[in-house]
Order: sequence, then C-alpha cells, then structure tokens
Amino acid sequence: MANENRFQAAREWLGTFGNSELVECLKCHKCAKAVHQNNELAFSCLHCGANNKPWPGGVELWLQVPCCGETLWALNEQHLEFLEKFIGAGLRERRRDETFGWANRSLDSRLPRWMTSAKNREEVMRGLQRLREKLG
Ligand SMILES: [Zn+2]
Repeated sequence: MANENRFQAAREWLGTFGNSELVECLKCHKCAKAVHQNNELAFSCLHCGANNKPWPGGVELWLQVPCCGETLWALNEQHLEFLEKFIGAGLRERRRDETFGWANRSLDSRLPRWMTSAKNREEVMRGLQRLREKLG
C-alpha cells in the first residue's frame, strides 16, 4: 500500500483503536510497533531491539494481505477485531445499534465498499483470518 494512503487512513482510525500500529521492522523484518505521539511516530521492535529512531519512512504495515484484488489491512489487534465483528455480522445485523452500538454510520462509511460488499464477504473473512494468524 502506498505510504501516503496508509498514513491518511491511520489518522482516521487511530484514536478509535488506540494510538499504535503494528509494522514490519526494517532491520529484522518481524513484527514491530509504531506509536503515534504528538504527530510523531516512535518505533520499537522487541525482536531486534530497534528503538525510538527517527521514523525511517518506507515502513509497511504488519497486518496486510492481498484480498479481492485489493489490500486488506489492519493497524493493530483492536482494529482487526473490529473488522472481524463488523464484517462477520453482515449487512443487516451490523446496523442494529443494540447489538453493535459502536457500528455507527461514520464507521461504516470509513470502510471501502469492496470490503463491505456481500459478495466479497467470504473472501474478506478468509483474509481477516490470515491477518489473525499473522498476529501469532
Ligand atoms: Zn526488529
């Protein structure tokens, strides 16, 4: 995914799902964490110890897989969990506030249409499962 799009999307979702995202470490290529603080990103990797460098740029999200000809991605576990519930609930149930009070129209409209389309639902659910596996 182009970095520009990713950072814009991250700004929209962060705050709703915490202030950190999982990324691929530039040094060891394992799962590392980026934390947004005061419009800056702090970086830390538990695997190789890379830590708090100035943001190097070019960092890819950890949770992303090809899906339906697009890229299915999540910033972090909370975001993934939301997508699993939201997509999994299907079109009808997810608009019922008593079940998913948080699934308001603004969240709905922030998801790309291919992701919420009924015909893609099974493939999107499989993609979300692959993301879940990457969390290890
Ligand atoms: Zn690392």
